[in-house]
Amino acid sequence: MSTLLRDGQNDLADAIANLRDRLPVELAPLARIAFNYRWSWMPGGTELFQRIDASLWREVRQNPRTLLEALTPRQLQALAQDPQFIDHLSSIVRACDADLQRPVWPGAEAHQPIAYFCAEFGFHASLPIYSGGLGILAGDILKVASDLALPMIGVGLFYRQGYFHQRLDVWGWQHEYWVDLPFDRMPAARVTDATGQPLAIEVPIRGRSIVTHVWRVQVGRTTLYLLDVDHELNDVNDRWITARLYVGDRTIRLAQYALLGIGGIRILSAMGITPSVIHLNEGHAALSSFERLRQKISAGQEFDAALAAVRNESVFTTHTPVAAGNEGYHEQDIEAVLGDFLDSLGVSHQTFYDLGRVTPGSPSEPVNITPLALRTSKAAIGVSRRHGEVARHMWQPLWPDRPVAEVPIGHITNGVHVASWMLPPMQALLRKHLGPAWPYQVMEPDFAERVKNIPDEEIWQVRCTQRHQLVEMTRSKSIRDRLSRGEEAEYVQAASRTFHPDTLTVGFARRVATYKRLYLLSRLPEGGLLRLLSDSPRPLQLILAGKAHPADHEAKEELRNRFQLKHAREIGQRVAFLVDYDLRIAPAIVGGVDLWLNLPRPPLEASGTSGMKVVLNGGLNLSVLDGWWDEAYDGENGWAIRSPDADPQTQDEHDARLLFELLETQVLPMFYERDAGGIPRAWVQRMKHSMATLMPRFSAERMMRDYIQQLYG
Ligand SMILES: *Cc1c(COP(=O)(O)O)cnc(C)c1O
Repeated sequence: MSTLLRDGQNDLADAIANLRDRLPVELAPLARIAFNYRWSWMPGGTELFQRIDASLWREVRQNPRTLLEALTPRQLQALAQDPQFIDHLSSIVRACDADLQRPVWPGAEAHQPIAYFCAEFGFHASLPIYSGGLGILAGDILKVASDLALPMIGVGLFYRQGYFHQRLDVWGWQHEYWVDLPFDRMPAARVTDATGQPLAIEVPIRGRSIVTHVWRVQVGRTTLYLLDVDHELNDVNDRWITARLYVGDRTIRLAQYALLGIGGIRILSAMGITPSVIHLNEGHAALSSFERLRQKISAGQEFDAALAAVRNESVFTTHTPVAAGNEGYHEQDIEAVLGDFLDSLGVSHQTFYDLGRVTPGSPSEPVNITPLALRTSKAAIGVSRRHGEVARHMWQPLWPDRPVAEVPIGHITNGVHVASWMLPPMQALLRKHLGPAWPYQVMEPDFAERVKNIPDEEIWQVRCTQRHQLVEMTRSKSIRDRLSRGEEAEYVQAASRTFHPDTLTVGFARRVATYKRLYLLSRLPEGGLLRLLSDSPRPLQLILAGKAHPADHEAKEELRNRFQLKHAREIGQRVAFLVDYDLRIAPAIVGGVDLWLNLPRPPLEASGTSGMKVVLNGGLNLSVLDGWWDEAYDGENGWAIRSPDADPQTQDEHDARLLFELLETQVLPMFYERDAGGIPRAWVQRMKHSMATLMPRFSAERMMRDYIQQLYG
């Protein structure tokens, strides 16, 4: 490696040294730990920071750097003299160092890194630059690349205010607010150039040249670069480009995509990094192909050869058949934002437009980011088997001379990062029965057998422990949520009185988008929901969470309508809506529920990943056969609703009826059917079967191995 590489490694080292100088010598290694998120998926990692000061840890939103900087000299001295803390610290330091020093993925020693471009990354609560499934997946990918020692870097945007926080008023209407992230308090370092100034590149956007800086964040062995234009070299209007994730204004979003794609490639060049593969994770990053096209044409290549070369180094994942995720822009909007860049491209603007249109040469057709990405990548995939089919149908017109089955879009089904999404009690159980190396053996042939050999009593005990923790969190959080909305005292008290640790706990938490059909819960036949909630002595209780996009009024209306139900007493006592769904509360929810509902209108759920997180924790899925569940369900590992091929209203009625029947006649009886020892044997069988068969197939490791074989090779 060249010593001239200015890739931020030295800047991170400086930031660590600065923090280390504030710490007593016994605690010095904490500085190194705090600047690499590797601790966050290591047994005992979160606990290390939590034990320093649990309430401060919550207050600083689990940001280890801010926590350490906020400690008083006395607190630091006390810690330095606490032998148990020092032991705990040493074990984490040893584990982190050992992990970072492993040799790289066999065969990749001489490889340049894969560059993974994405508009959002969700890997830890302290860095809220994600909105939902897409970002969480990207975060899981950075982590599993680190686990497999695969050379990969992430490229994204450093949103000053991240994604919005959610508040509901007493009528159930969603309000949004944003909190500035203190960049210089984050576990991140601004990359500098040889003169010690912030490394800067310029990106032509909206007729101006925007000065772009970059930050380096370490996620285990994987480096994440985040672009930032919010500094004084840019005017106040331009600085807003990296203010918020998924702003409502479409031209600002287009400016963001330009920054991510064009700026991302330029900043990598400026740091001396030449990726072996560019992975466009969703169409937002499509413009990276055009910056590389520009570079090749300006170096003298003909357009056709340059395009072929660009394609040869790019791969693309499409993530949704929903129209809003496949954005199209009219020529005048493109000109206003990208005109200067297109002037520099070395081909006509028309050529660019045509690459973004299903039918080249039709001026009224919007230029869409998904065709731009499809036409500039050598391989494209959807995120589940079903979604692969849907995407081939959807984009077949791009290949008019091919039948649908031969459209070159494949699929690699999503997976989730096991160490991040399995809660500590379940991890401890697997460690006990499968041995400390179990996380590396999930894909081995005898894994299923070994899971099935875990004693029913013990796995049920863990299930109950995790449910109890969720009920505890739900009680205290919903009391706080209800108080801060100014609810009546009786409704506030209802949460603490009756959310019960041994009641069947059902969860539904995800982005509130109309196609996810949260509303089906209140369309159950025969007063269904109320009946299930009040079915004594075998009730269920329901935990809901999710944000509606600020501009999605239909989704906000839906949220409010569901909220009106709270006036029924059973609802106040047995249903909790937890506001501000994010990485702070998601693990407890997916880890604590017994049953996870997913009710998308097929075929709009491309994959869905939260149900996979539930599997890791011994929860069961009841889902419409769509996305990942369509290939996961085997009749014994959960429950399924096959939505009829019909008009939306018929589908809704059918699916609501079946949901009610399954809950009433199968789920509830099986959960409450106990043997003399209090164990629901049939339920536990189903749990074990679900874990044994689904964990290996829907883990991030399996996904990444498929990427390596099918995309990166
Ligand atoms: C996993 C996750 C999602 C994605 O859930 P889906 O089931 O794919 O809709 C969204 N938000 C958070 C916080 C998550 O952890």
